[in-house]
Amino acid sequence: MMRAVVVHAPRDLRIEEITVADPGPGEVRVRLAAGGICGSDLHYYQDGGFGTVRIKEPMIVGHEAAGVVAAVGAGVTSVKVGDKIAINPSKPCGQCHFCRTGEHQHCSDMRFFGSAMRFPHMQGIFRDEMVIDAAQAIPVGQDTPLEEAAFAEPLSVALHAVTQAGSLIGKRVLVTGTGTIGCLVVLAAHHAGAGEITATDISDPALAIAKTVGADRTLNVMSDPQALAAYNADKGYFDVIFECSGNGRVLAGLPDIVKPRGVITLIGIGGESALPVSVLVVKEIALRGSFRFDSEFAWAADLLARRAVDVRPLLTGIFPLERAVEAFDLAGDRSRSMKVQLSFNP
Ligand code: ZN
Repeated sequence: MMRAVVVHAPRDLRIEEITVADPGPGEVRVRLAAGGICGSDLHYYQDGGFGTVRIKEPMIVGHEAAGVVAAVGAGVTSVKVGDKIAINPSKPCGQCHFCRTGEHQHCSDMRFFGSAMRFPHMQGIFRDEMVIDAAQAIPVGQDTPLEEAAFAEPLSVALHAVTQAGSLIGKRVLVTGTGTIGCLVVLAAHHAGAGEITATDISDPALAIAKTVGADRTLNVMSDPQALAAYNADKGYFDVIFECSGNGRVLAGLPDIVKPRGVITLIGIGGESALPVSVLVVKEIALRGSFRFDSEFAWAADLLARRAVDVRPLLTGIFPLERAVEAFDLAGDRSRSMKVQLSFNP
């Protein structure tokens, strides 16, 4: 019997039986091991979606996962039965203008696992077994714990953001918001040679984890609202800022504390912001968005396989699939959790 975690409506998460096909040519069947609950999964569970993206039919959630190849279809040579893999949840069309010019993250016909952006929805990864394209099965080596390999997707998002910002070698970096993505950006910035990393958040437990994974200085901007004020001096302190909180008021304060010609990279998607545009102009600040990832996925899988970045401090707990509701409720409570994962196939 195969099981899946299916969202039907807000607060209506069910474990259901599913069938799994044999892999066709160019496909592999994966036996899932670990899957991380992400913010978008939580939005589907808590609110039935986000913005204009709404669940219109039952959808298996999940897009961060790793497992073992259980069967391969005709013509598959990149992986073999028994290989440990991370699943790349994005499948760009390969045909559109953006794909043909190497900008796959902007594909106009993207198929992304566990996403209600399309209809019918793209069913997700939280299930015992599933069939995927061999190209989406990225080997992580046989010694890599699969709960660590399941970080490949969010780590890819962080690596893509760091790539947007240019060289970080020796730079003063600020990361605002130390949820999972913020902490992964700290790890990625540290790996990329940042000279000094400061992190802000409103949660002391989250900041403690940020420190464990490489932040040199952490500031709680709830208990000390003026914590960043001193960094205004002499036209700003930071060379590069990664905004991971998605909070428009946080963003509005950043132009004052970034140096002239500094870079502000936005990863968090939040509400509107009273961004002081004139400050961007006179300090020649570059404001960059960062969305999804592309070739960074293979890079992330390799870093995890070599433990060149160590994501273990981010893992709050692992729940068997049948306790998915409990796991989702814990994942939705930032005061008690960072990354919560489901385990499959006990
Ligand atoms: Zn495309």
